[in-house]
Amino acid sequence: MSFSSSERKEAAALALGWFRRNARPLPWREGRDPYKILVSEFMLQQTRVETALPYFTRWVKRYPDLASLARADEADVEKLWEGLGYYSRCRSLLAAARAMTQEGLDKPPPSTEALLRYPGIGPYTAGAVASIAYNLPVPAVDGNVERVTSRLLNLTEPAGSPALKRLASKSVLAMMPKGEACDFNQALMELGALVCLPKLPACLECPWGALCLARKLGVQTQRPLTRPRPVVEKISAWGALFFYEDFCLLRRRPREGLWSGLWEVPWFPREGEDALAEVGAWARAVGIECLSCRELGVARFSFTRYRVTAWVAACETALSPVFREKTSLGEWGLHTPDALERVTLPAPSRKFLALLK
Ligand code: SF4
Repeated sequence: MSFSSSERKEAAALALGWFRRNARPLPWREGRDPYKILVSEFMLQQTRVETALPYFTRWVKRYPDLASLARADEADVEKLWEGLGYYSRCRSLLAAARAMTQEGLDKPPPSTEALLRYPGIGPYTAGAVASIAYNLPVPAVDGNVERVTSRLLNLTEPAGSPALKRLASKSVLAMMPKGEACDFNQALMELGALVCLPKLPACLECPWGALCLARKLGVQTQRPLTRPRPVVEKISAWGALFFYEDFCLLRRRPREGLWSGLWEVPWFPREGEDALAEVGAWARAVGIECLSCRELGVARFSFTRYRVTAWVAACETALSPVFREKTSLGEWGLHTPDALERVTLPAPSRKFLALLK
């Protein structure tokens, strides 16, 4: 980095002063409870503060401390998380709480090395908990901090690259004033969230307006350097609500990847117009015989770079021995209408089911 020692001190003092005047009163900032900070950091991965807030409030009401979370049932935890997405986060948070309590801890440990041993905790989360809860002098570089740092110092490594992460971490540590890790890291996060926005940085309101190297060069919106955005792909699909007697058939998603481990209403590519023929052929391949098929309507949803338009059909079925074998293996499940309300489902499945009403 190309800042002198006095410029680093000045940048830190300006960021801290700004943070103390402008910090949002967020519930996990009250009292610096390490458990609540851990929960908030899991929720805020890939999620905006406004979205996470009601989930956080419900969560700490239901599980106020590490011990109550460690005793929780995985299905209840997933249900409380429903709608927040990336469900492996809540399962990892539960697993981490259980591992910590098994080791006799009543809160997350005060060290990044110790925190990194638990499921779902990477360098950013470990740094955030250690610095915010315990004021330990360690960096916590998420996307916001990476952006503000690369603009302030005009770093030219590509966004999201290990090289930029390393350089940003080093720079944050070099600027961090003694005894101020908690507020300094949060100041950088808050600057990224409120002022140094990705497309429209509010440089006139920024405490670093006169220091920022990228601004001086007029390249602030080009930092960090980004790769071209992936092209959006449109997909046509069938969503299939299979009914057997009073039960709705749901399939289990793989434990890894998108909506990992959740039950879902199956959906698959649509190639033609004939619901009975296409849905029927797909169903036969997994051991389900479609006796009738009624189109309910269209549901739209997105994931990663895909935009899906799904034509949803409700089908009466008969089940083969092959299919019953799949249910005994846990790949498929038969759910009553009541159970459908209780089970955690990805957002597209809820949209499909809403068409029944
Ligand atoms: S001056 Fe502008 S580009 Fe630089 S850190 Fe502040 S908001 Fe971001």
